[in-house]
Amino acid sequence: MMTSFAEMTLHNMESVEVFASEGKGRGLKAAKELLAGEVVFAEPSFAAVVFDSLSQYVCHSCFRQQKKLHRCGQCRFAQYCDRTCQRACWEEHKQECNAIRKNGKAPNENVRLAARVLWRMEKDGGVASDSQLTTLEDLEDHVADMPEEDLKELKIDVHNFLDYWPSGSRQHTVDSISHILGVINCNGFTLSDQRGLQAVGVGIFPNLCLVNHDCWPNCTVILNHGKIELRSLGTIAEGQELTVGYVDFLNVSQDRQKLLKQQYFFDCTCTHCSQHTKDDLKMAVKVVDGKKPSEEVVKEVTEHSLKALEQIEKARTEGNYHEVVKVCRECLEKQGPVLAETHLYHLRVLSVASEVMSYLQFFTEAAEYARKMVEGYMKLYHPNNAQLGMATMRAGVTHWHAGLIEVGHGMICKAYAILLTMRNQTEMELRMFRQNEYVYHTMREAALKNQPMSMMTEPVAEGIKSLFRRK
Ligand SMILES: [Zn+2]
Ligand SMILES: [Zn+2]
Ligand SMILES: [Zn+2]
Repeated sequence: MMTSFAEMTLHNMESVEVFASEGKGRGLKAAKELLAGEVVFAEPSFAAVVFDSLSQYVCHSCFRQQKKLHRCGQCRFAQYCDRTCQRACWEEHKQECNAIRKNGKAPNENVRLAARVLWRMEKDGGVASDSQLTTLEDLEDHVADMPEEDLKELKIDVHNFLDYWPSGSRQHTVDSISHILGVINCNGFTLSDQRGLQAVGVGIFPNLCLVNHDCWPNCTVILNHGKIELRSLGTIAEGQELTVGYVDFLNVSQDRQKLLKQQYFFDCTCTHCSQHTKDDLKMAVKVVDGKKPSEEVVKEVTEHSLKALEQIEKARTEGNYHEVVKVCRECLEKQGPVLAETHLYHLRVLSVASEVMSYLQFFTEAAEYARKMVEGYMKLYHPNNAQLGMATMRAGVTHWHAGLIEVGHGMICKAYAILLTMRNQTEMELRMFRQNEYVYHTMREAALKNQPMSMMTEPVAEGIKSLFRRK
């Protein structure tokens, strides 16, 4: 007999153990053998906020993008889908609402998140539940490693925090505020909207912070109903360290190492970095009849691609999707005869092009790009990678929408095979559902009662792409 549904779905931390990982500080290791796709643990955010730039377009409770939102009548800053969302996060917003009113305006996202973290710590003493393996105080802040420019920004944030923090409350020292801001800087986790298309906010997940990096990790992170789930990519033996990728694997080793050093302040010595695994594929050029394009042409196309990717990013952030399409088409035409199908810059353009064109309902073109992208990904990613599974699933759906039912079906089957290894959890629930539908619903409701973000429709593979937030 199952004792509680909550225990079954919320996954206490029984599968993991904190240990001292050689050269990496604290880490997590498997306390028992883990199967492919297993949810190692799930964790709700300790605190989370919507990005400044999207504060008018995203619900501050469930993080969905919504055309019509309702403003909090008191601070006139927070926005919600409806009363249900507003009520669900009033406990978190209450003190913030007061502070924003007194301050006259909302401070930036870092300061807002730091304040939410400190309010939560006051309420729960820094440990939100029995299953939280570390206090916020014990997390790394890397303030001492920060370059001067970042330190300057940190000081401004501290200053703004002190103005924002209510004078009647318990006061915090500059050091403890800097610590929280430092933790946010290197451990803030990006939250996506309900479609997984856009990063909309940032949150702190303390247990996830304990999982160290590897460029070829054995776990992946999925954002599901506002909680993160750490899932194993393959069988993991008892005692083995659990790892995730902090930076996009779709970078060559040298660039990954640089990114990791800049943001997380360590030198990656993983096997993939030391052996430069797959770097050649990621920079490969197209060979036709044994002939390569000239160095000059390769250089020109590479530079053009980098510039185009910047333009695409800018247009995309501004929501100018037709501009995105235009730049993508031009760039893909230039890349076509020169770069190999696994070349990073080619894959990056394909990825944006297929997503945006599918959104604009240019399904035939979107399908072609999605197929090429998946073919490239398959040569680079771990076969069980969630990113690959989700990309294949999306490509399948795009083909289906384009009326290419045969290819679409084939892809969805392939995606299903990847995501199948991620299925254990739903299967358990399904069995229970079939045994007793009424009991299932009652338990599920009880388990989700305190989860304001449980309305999202589909799980989103956060994966390697942007695990932690980059400023
Ligand atoms: Zn909402
Ligand atoms: Zn308010
Ligand atoms: Zn590495």
